[in-house]
Amino acid sequence: MVLAQLGGSISRAIQQMSNATIIDEKVLNECLNEITRALLQADVQFKLVREMQTNIKKIVNLDDLAAGHNKRRIIQQAIFNELCKMLDPGKPSFTPKKGKPSVIMFVGLQGSGKTTTCTKYAYYHQKKGWKPALVCADTFRAGAFDQLKQNATKAKIPFYGSYTESDPVRIAVEGVETFKKENCDLIIVDTSGRHKQEAALFEEMRQVSEATNPDLVIFVMDSSIGQAAFDQAQAFKQSVSVGAVIVTKMDGHAKGGGALSAVAATKSPVIFIGTGEHMDEFEVFDVKPFVSRLLG
Ligand code: GDP
Repeated sequence: MVLAQLGGSISRAIQQMSNATIIDEKVLNECLNEITRALLQADVQFKLVREMQTNIKKIVNLDDLAAGHNKRRIIQQAIFNELCKMLDPGKPSFTPKKGKPSVIMFVGLQGSGKTTTCTKYAYYHQKKGWKPALVCADTFRAGAFDQLKQNATKAKIPFYGSYTESDPVRIAVEGVETFKKENCDLIIVDTSGRHKQEAALFEEMRQVSEATNPDLVIFVMDSSIGQAAFDQAQAFKQSVSVGAVIVTKMDGHAKGGGALSAVAATKSPVIFIGTGEHMDEFEVFDVKPFVSRLLG
């Protein structure tokens, strides 16, 4: 189920409820069950879906709503608010300031789109007059530096990395220092996404983070990973202080529910979404317009 389908299913459930002559407990339950089914099919975590259902029922207490109340509107609003709440952890992420050096560390599994997203993020800010720079601290994957170098060169963004140095912490620190001296205001550190053992990957993330002291750690997640999103996001959050999420490949046949789970696991907002392989296929993510669009 792609996101548009999820939105369609939820809208239909709301429409059916609205068409009922009288909105009673049974009609409301049917509507909520339909929405629950749609969310579960879109890979949203069961616990989150249950919470949403309970919250809506708490807000929409049909017995307490006098006859004059517009029950349809109240229910619709409650559903909209709960969907927004699932995507909004309630506190904004760190926002870098132009002209003041910020270190942004990217983490995520290999294949999530991390390296591509680092360049997109840099390019997005460069177009707005920032002075970004890219550091390749992925010494594990052969070819990682070449990929970042290629992307950076195409976008005319300065980069730092090494073909011979095997210590990611050292490269990260050197890269950050170099670009601070060059007055770059957005120093982006790309990290490894894979290791021989998972524990080693998380330990490496912890060390890179400790050594570079990033202002923001962004967790990059492929939108198609579905139910696995919660555990994956939580595992990164336990090693480094993830402060924002970027969901990639939203142009594909993603189920989309993973994004909701990643927000829940990291208690961090989604700040951008990737919508294609190209550098400018990258959008700022805003919860309310997104949910409005989702619901059509
Ligand atoms: P990394 O291993 O996490 O660094 O992932 P890469 O940046 O190498 O990306 C893996 C693949 O996903 C590449 O083929 C990218 O072109 C592709 N990719 C990244 N972001 C997006 C996106 O938003 N949409 C699509 N369709 N492909 C993407």
